[in-house]
Amino acid sequence: MWCNRYAVGYNVAMNKEIIIIGGGASGLMLASLLPKQSALVIEANGKTGAKIAVSGGGKCNITNAKMDSSFYRGESSFIQKSLKAFDQNALLAWIKARGVSPVLKKENQYFCPNSAKELLQILEQESKKQTFLLGEKVISVDKRGLYFSVKTDKRVLTSRAVAVASGGVSYPILGATSVGYEIAAFFGHTVVKTAPALVGLTVQKEQFFFKELSGASVDVQIKAAGRLCQGSLLFTHKGISGPAVLDASLYWDKGNIAIDFLPAFSWDHVRSSKKQLTSILPLPKRVAKAFLIQLGIEDKIGSKISAEELKRLKTLNCYSFAPAGTFGYSKAEVTKGGVCTNEVEADTMMSLKSEGLYFVGEVLDVTGRLGGYNFQWAFSSAFVCAASLKHRKKIENNFQIELN
Ligand SMILES: Cc1cc2nc3c(=O)[nH]c(=O)nc-3n(C[C@H](O)[C@H](O)[C@H](O)COP(=O)(O)OP(=O)(O)OC[C@H]3O[C@@H](n4cnc5c(N)ncnc54)[C@H](O)[C@@H]3O)c2cc1C
Repeated sequence: MWCNRYAVGYNVAMNKEIIIIGGGASGLMLASLLPKQSALVIEANGKTGAKIAVSGGGKCNITNAKMDSSFYRGESSFIQKSLKAFDQNALLAWIKARGVSPVLKKENQYFCPNSAKELLQILEQESKKQTFLLGEKVISVDKRGLYFSVKTDKRVLTSRAVAVASGGVSYPILGATSVGYEIAAFFGHTVVKTAPALVGLTVQKEQFFFKELSGASVDVQIKAAGRLCQGSLLFTHKGISGPAVLDASLYWDKGNIAIDFLPAFSWDHVRSSKKQLTSILPLPKRVAKAFLIQLGIEDKIGSKISAEELKRLKTLNCYSFAPAGTFGYSKAEVTKGGVCTNEVEADTMMSLKSEGLYFVGEVLDVTGRLGGYNFQWAFSSAFVCAASLKHRKKIENNFQIELN
């Protein structure tokens, strides 16, 4: 479907500076920042920004007050350059200037005040100066001479530059495809092995008792690959989920994680207490009971437990086990891994393998923790790409970033 009255004809993209593959967070921001009628956005879905619309429980966690590359998995100096060019304050100011004031929640996280649609509407409004092809899927990209040819399921389009903003492969129900990785590989890029991230973890049979605790939630600290993730853990019928687990899934690839189920608890008075263990331990009763059974300890009053039993109880501060896997791409908020950033210019987002080919957003090997980091990355990398395009020879004179 053509979505712009200027868009007519087969080879309309010949007179566009750039074809943007994907009308998600990064593609829409890139289209917003580029001059009028300079870009053609091709989006497989019938509408743009599907992930934005459902993000953050419908309110979109846009960004985070604490922002630097340490909140990301990926090459730190590469990430930092984009964050510096367009940080959380610049993003918030850009949104506020368009009439929406994000609200701070959970200490550091900025959300839309009422609905994720508020951010989506801004991006749609700002980008409507470009041409959109909706409901059209990009199949492949090739290059002949100076021109890229972008093959879709309906036609072949050409342009001097292509920005791959097609995201990762998680949540295929919202339109995710692996086309970005395929394009990268075609142009000789290394694609770092991908895996679901910000996702729940499944358990092996030793931890099957977790499944019976489905619905219970506890505050924990999780150590995964040397990183500490804290927050709540939710037991589910598949394993474990909740913010702390989602965060840990970013760092966990295989092997053990260690969960402190009692991070703020002092053991000092347990052996002098007249209360039952299930009342002493600050855990939901059924969780405490299940752990006591696993540890082979009876639910008795604190003063009756032996030193050896206390020692066994204390293992709840460092409950170590190897998850079986993850809940998979269908449930993962993001995809870790992706186009290797060593082969992309940090100042421009341009491929070092093919001039005029750009990568922005989640398709790159940059993945943020829970808390608004992934949208910030999508927007920051799109900003850097837009800024760099104005330096391209052909468009030097008439290309300006439209920030105000
Ligand atoms: C349920 C959910 C909740 C989330 N909540 C948050 C949150 O609150 N805060 C946060 O920071 N992050 C959140 N995320 C992550 C965030 O949505 C992504 O990291 C971000 O959208 C990535 O932006 P992107 O532009 O790289 O990719 P996307 O936003 O995924 O956009 C890629 C676009 O490309 C299109 N596309 C794919 N293949 C093709 C093709 N072959 N042809 C044409 N078009 C194609 C897709 O349809 C899509 O519209 C959430 C993710 C999910 C799934």
